[in-house]
Amino acid sequence: ASRRHAEVAQRLVATLAATVDEHKVRLGEIDAVAGDGDHGIGMSRGSRAAAEAAVAAGVAGGGVHSVLRAAGTAFGDRAGGTSGILWGLLLETVGRDLGNQEAVTLDRLSGAVRTGAARLREFGRAEPGDKTMLDALLPFADELAHGADADLPLAKAWQAAAELATSAAEATAPMVPRVGRARPLAERSVGTPDPGAVSFALIVTAIGEQLTQ
Ligand code: ADP
Ligand code: MG
Ligand code: MG
Repeated sequence: ASRRHAEVAQRLVATLAATVDEHKVRLGEIDAVAGDGDHGIGMSRGSRAAAEAAVAAGVAGGGVHSVLRAAGTAFGDRAGGTSGILWGLLLETVGRDLGNQEAVTLDRLSGAVRTGAARLREFGRAEPGDKTMLDALLPFADELAHGADADLPLAKAWQAAAELATSAAEATAPMVPRVGRARPLAERSVGTPDPGAVSFALIVTAIGEQLTQ
């Protein structure tokens, strides 16, 4: 089981990278409204490196933790922006919580996403409503936990959580950013959703589609 789960983890990191690539230009445009416009480029560079590192760790016989740790480290090192560090931290934390040996159940995955979200919140010192990726990640984590409580199949719960993340990302549009690079031009950002929340929603949606295949 650990071998198969490590392969799934590799495939999902590849899906993440492909999704970012597909939306790279638009993510840059959204970030350029009040930020520095590099969200697409940075996420693309980071996630490609993450996907390569995930494959290398898998080939070397690593389990889920090893695969996600390698991916997270590469992501943070290569993205060159705040979101890359945060995504790196998220992947590493989720991987550490899931471990190398144990089977990935919805209960455990939901717990790992919660742990990752809490770690990201602590590290970035952002709060809900500050107009960051947390505004999509926290509702996602909560909905995944509801799915686990309701004993939904993993893919179903993930898809429901991804739908919530998508509407939560859209709902950041009227917010005023209180942290990060968009802060100096905060008022300009009103009317445009947070780039990190939008990319998060796109990524979890694509992973949800992959999980149902
Ligand atoms: P940078 O801001 O360094 O250019 P990116 O443009 O790639 O990096 O990422 C910007 C995104 O990072 C923001 O839209 C926001 O979602 C997220 N972000 C920035 N700072 C924080 C933080 N302290 N906590 C959570 N997310 C943050
Ligand atoms: Mg930026
Ligand atoms: Mg930047």
